[in-house]
Amino acid sequence: MLIQVLFIRGRVPDPVSGFAVTATDGAARAGTLRTAHGEIRTPAFMPVGTKGTVKSVDPDELRGIGTQVLLGNTYHLHFRPGDDLIAELGGLHSFMGWDGPILTDSGGFQVFSLRDTLAAVDDEGVTFRSVYDGAEARFTPELSARIQSNLGSDIAMCFDVCPPAGVPRAELEEAVRLTRLWAERQRAEPRGEGQLLFGIAQGGADPELRRRSIEEIVGLGFDGYALGGLAVGESRDEMFEATAWAAPLLPQTHARYFMGIGDPEGILEVIERGIDMFDCVLPTRTARTGSALTWEGRLNLRNARFARDPRPLDEDCACPACARFSRAYIRHLINQQELLGLRLLSLHNLRFVLELTAGARAAIERGELAGYKANALDRLAAAALEA
Ligand SMILES: [Zn+2]
Repeated sequence: MLIQVLFIRGRVPDPVSGFAVTATDGAARAGTLRTAHGEIRTPAFMPVGTKGTVKSVDPDELRGIGTQVLLGNTYHLHFRPGDDLIAELGGLHSFMGWDGPILTDSGGFQVFSLRDTLAAVDDEGVTFRSVYDGAEARFTPELSARIQSNLGSDIAMCFDVCPPAGVPRAELEEAVRLTRLWAERQRAEPRGEGQLLFGIAQGGADPELRRRSIEEIVGLGFDGYALGGLAVGESRDEMFEATAWAAPLLPQTHARYFMGIGDPEGILEVIERGIDMFDCVLPTRTARTGSALTWEGRLNLRNARFARDPRPLDEDCACPACARFSRAYIRHLINQQELLGLRLLSLHNLRFVLELTAGARAAIERGELAGYKANALDRLAAAALEA
């Protein structure tokens, strides 16, 4: 393993994909992805800034807790405040005051996950009602490309069809067909300056359809590849099993993005299976429910047992919340719906996930991911038993 690590260390990024694997450990990889706004060291967790903000957290604070890349949302920014307006003001980086890499999703996930608003899907695109005012709207791969070009993200995603788990096989097959058709059209559209474009493979956990989708999307040729259509309601075992056989079907030379995972256990499982990038609203959403991700498990700060607890959320954490404030104080803020409570929990939860990911990267470089993962899962499992 050491020889292999030495051999690939220092490899320059591929001039097209911008990605270089710098170390491997089993199926897991450490790498770098070069973008127009800087390099991303992978594996990387991407905090989600749906509406041009990671809820309640300032960009400097995001940088301070180790954020490398943010995710912005095509669907929401298109409707509010409008991607034309953002372009007029210099693009999303300038608009939101974040000068690091940004990945924008394509809008596909929102359109298909808000199923009540879906009106019609045809070969050209999707008709739906906007969640903002109920007005009829239409997304096509061409429009998704234009919106993401206006936003000026560093990594744009292909507009895909993302059905939930459990749909009939024919519907999954149709999603694979349209995803390929649309990827081919979006690939031909103009992009933002220096913008990378990632393809998305669909096919759920169906081996034949997933394989077909990967072959079709990789055949078109993109700067990186995502596994979409997982973490959409199937069982965890099914999701991890599909990741284990699907990830190696993606090119070794390109970044691999698992869309929509962000819990501590899930992150370690997909990294071990060869995933380089992932995103999830879980750390900030968990904060909004008044809970902290810690090595003692998930702490619900509303619980009375924290009322007189002078300890920080997590003894091992150096985030701004743990550096200065007690569980008792944060509990008080949450119970009184004070804004600072939400901010502190968001900062802490994001840092917990970012640190866990950075630790996994370092473990891959040492060839010790298995031990790192086992130790982390043991600690979290022990905490769950105590709770
Ligand atoms: Zn903390």
